[in-house]
Amino acid sequence: MGIAASPFLNPTADTPSGVGRKLTADALSRRARQRRQIQGMIGVSYVVDAMILLIYAHAGTTSASVGPAFAVCGLISVTGYIALSESGFNERFKDHYLVVPQSIVSMIIMLAFTYAAPEVGAMFLCELFVVFAFSSLRSTPWQAAVVWTAMALGLAGLFLLTHKPISLPHTTFLERFATMAMFILTIGRCMYIGIFSSTLRESLYKSGLALKEANQRIEELAELDDLTGSFNRRRIMHLLDDEILRAQRIDAPCSIALIDLDWFKRINDTYGHPIGDEVLRTFAITVFANIRGVDRFGRYGGEEFLLVLPDTPGETATRMLERLRTIVADLDWSAFSSGLRVTISAGVASLGPNETADSFLARADRALYKAKARGRNRIASA
Ligand code: GH3
Ligand code: MG
Ligand code: MG
Repeated sequence: MGIAASPFLNPTADTPSGVGRKLTADALSRRARQRRQIQGMIGVSYVVDAMILLIYAHAGTTSASVGPAFAVCGLISVTGYIALSESGFNERFKDHYLVVPQSIVSMIIMLAFTYAAPEVGAMFLCELFVVFAFSSLRSTPWQAAVVWTAMALGLAGLFLLTHKPISLPHTTFLERFATMAMFILTIGRCMYIGIFSSTLRESLYKSGLALKEANQRIEELAELDDLTGSFNRRRIMHLLDDEILRAQRIDAPCSIALIDLDWFKRINDTYGHPIGDEVLRTFAITVFANIRGVDRFGRYGGEEFLLVLPDTPGETATRMLERLRTIVADLDWSAFSSGLRVTISAGVASLGPNETADSFLARADRALYKAKARGRNRIASA
């Protein structure tokens, strides 16, 4: 099989789905740092075990060379792994931790030492729990199955094909002390791995939540008009379509108003475009302060706005717009620039049976035109 076809190999993937994406130098160095940290912990683990083996040697259970030999083997495997990792070799694989080969190497070390020093064999077999708890952290089910099968074959070879008297030393006080220390430290390491995995899960959960919130915010921003904070045209049209469908389904009244600022070009020309922008913003804030939670308000274009009023018959809508018109006209606009006055005109329409959004809007637009023709600062209904 060619290198590129191997299921392990994926030089660009960082995601479980394997959807290719080039990793940044930052991400690569973060991954290398994580691998170094893990190898550091494994190295420390070997040294701790070697110290327990020295206690066994002191108790006369095993030879004094077993501990140092175990530490050397462990450190050689750790150094070899770090050398590969630093050369960038690991990055050629989808599983850049190389869980399967790494677990199998550790397992071979443990089984070889059980074979060579069966008088302290239980200790190396205990270490298998740490090795496999660790490898399960990063394994896919398929990788776990491979590693577990290799372990089962190794143990079968050791127990069924040899006659080694594998022991758990516990005769003298020193032996009991070393065995106790071995259990305590092994259980501690297994717990550490478990806690590490639950912390990882929690931080993944939290970043998932943060991502969801960020996406929601992006969606909101994509629906809003920058200047006024009201819905943009695309969104308000969608909302209008939805409201028409809802009103027709449950046979409820529905009204809309097309609102246009009067003589707005003149406002821009006289007071400047920035003041024009302020007027639009203040107008939108005024509308928001005077509509119900169910009403929908969006910028239809330029200085023209669409207000969707669910469950509202035409006369109620006209009354509401009349009130809004008065509020806008009575605002003290001179705070922005002396002499500034702002008024609005609106065309109100209420939904007819089986009416489409286009015809609904066209009727409101004709009413708006009527309001303008009658002298502005007024509301007309279709
Ligand atoms: P009418 O009473 O007939 O509606 O007159 P009008 O001057 O309001 O209407 P017209 O359509 O002639 O001019 C609308 C002006 O609104 C022109 C355009 O420059 C201005 N406008 C549109 N969008 C913005 C904006 O975002 N900011 C500002 N400051 N002005 C805008
Ligand atoms: Mg206008
Ligand atoms: Mg206009």
